[in-house]
Amino acid sequence: MARIDLVDLAHSYGGNDAAPESFALKPVTMTWRQGGAYALLGPSGCGKTTLLNLISGIVTPSRGKILFDGADITPLSTQKRNIAQVFQFPVIYDTMTVGQNLAFPLRNRGVPKAEIDARVRQIADLLDLTPHLDRKATRLTADAKQKISLGRGLVRSDVAAILFDEPLTVIDPELKWQLRSKLKALHRDLDLTMIYVTHDQTEALTFADTVVVMHDGRVVQSGTPAELFDKPAHTFVGYFIGSPGMNIVPAEVRGREARISGHPIALSRSYAALPSGAKIEVGVRPEFVDIAAPASGLLSATIERIDDLGRVRFARVRIGDAKFNARVPPGFSIPGETAGLIFDPSHVHVYADSLLVEGMA
Ligand code: ATP
Repeated sequence: MARIDLVDLAHSYGGNDAAPESFALKPVTMTWRQGGAYALLGPSGCGKTTLLNLISGIVTPSRGKILFDGADITPLSTQKRNIAQVFQFPVIYDTMTVGQNLAFPLRNRGVPKAEIDARVRQIADLLDLTPHLDRKATRLTADAKQKISLGRGLVRSDVAAILFDEPLTVIDPELKWQLRSKLKALHRDLDLTMIYVTHDQTEALTFADTVVVMHDGRVVQSGTPAELFDKPAHTFVGYFIGSPGMNIVPAEVRGREARISGHPIALSRSYAALPSGAKIEVGVRPEFVDIAAPASGLLSATIERIDDLGRVRFARVRIGDAKFNARVPPGFSIPGETAGLIFDPSHVHVYADSLLVEGMA
């Protein structure tokens, strides 16, 4: 297992001279720690696969370096990088048995037979493949075949990292949940560095210790699921993570006060000097705004609809032209078409040109 450092890494499929904004991966410097469970999360086209392929060596970067445990491996081929990869669709040999498929990456590297047998048994047990070890892979379902692909990725203990590119796409939803939990347990048992690409926030948040969020070719935040929820570093993270996502509305901010549509909202931190000319917005998650009966002192909103999600209800409201989601407190009955909004100041964040501004205590 290795620590992976990306140093000023960037890539353009149009070549190094392409306009900086057109790069599929804009310059990024970051560290993936040894033994970490990472998810690379973002919408289609944001550059996840490009970054994964740069790490594995399938794509050579236009700029920058990749280090494994401090050594520059940028010019090395995929084989020399010692990376295991699991793709969206099963990559297995139909003519071999399940056991032979699992053993293949080890046999290929001349691992002694006793060691291969022990490792294959361990991985088969972890993935519930033991009853199928002697069966030909060809007769298995798509789910089982993808489990074998996962097993082939996990079977080597000497790899620098295992990269998963949306590996559960073909898996049935119920089994998807089980396999995700299993992968997390495997990560704990096997002490592997894992990077898991997905556009599904539930998949990312349940699998990873650290979620790396990408938007438009940039890594916009890397943090624990709680950090991404509590303190989105970019408005995109606020909006993309959470269901419904964070409310983001234009505001004027001075000192410890934000004004939304001219109405004052208290902030828990002070904002002295915001960058001049920047687009200033406040962001607050629906979980931290309650609707209440209209009252002077409360920001007034027009109720559009109520979404009952079982354990919690959210009101979809409008503040002027801006759409906004707020929590409906338990037992609260909706007063009519208009409501007041109560903000929790400690969860109201300020953004300048989409980037979080820290403020002073
Ligand atoms: P998806 O989830 O749809 O796979 P992604 O987040 O993995 O998306 P990438 O596949 O890395 O995104 O694509 C990032 C950008 O690079 C996109 O604009 C895409 O069109 C472009 N791109 C990807 N591969 C190539 C290629 N081989 N040649 C040219 N452009 C490419």
